[in-house]
Amino acid sequence: MIKIKSIIQEKKECYFCSTKSNLHEHHVFNGRNRNNSEKYGLKVYLCTRHHSLSKDSVHFNPIYMKLLKIIGQLYYEKIFGFDEPFTSIFYRNYREDQSG
Ligand SMILES: [Zn+2]
Ligand SMILES: [Zn+2]
Repeated sequence: MIKIKSIIQEKKECYFCSTKSNLHEHHVFNGRNRNNSEKYGLKVYLCTRHHSLSKDSVHFNPIYMKLLKIIGQLYYEKIFGFDEPFTSIFYRNYREDQSG
């Protein structure tokens, strides 16, 4: 399979603040869905501050984490959704899930 880069982002810069230094690659869906994030290109670059090293980071702020998952789902649906529904691959619907 051809490795897809990111379907969310074209530039190599922090998705939140656009800095180009100290970037990490963040998989939008992790745990059992990390491989699916890789397969479908659901990844973004984040600077250390926005990735995991401050309260403004996706790994500490659940709202930022959820926001990225909703964005990821929307991109997935735009590009792959006609072939295979998001929920049958990722087993959740982040657009309508109220549970957090
Ligand atoms: Zn940043
Ligand atoms: Zn991460």
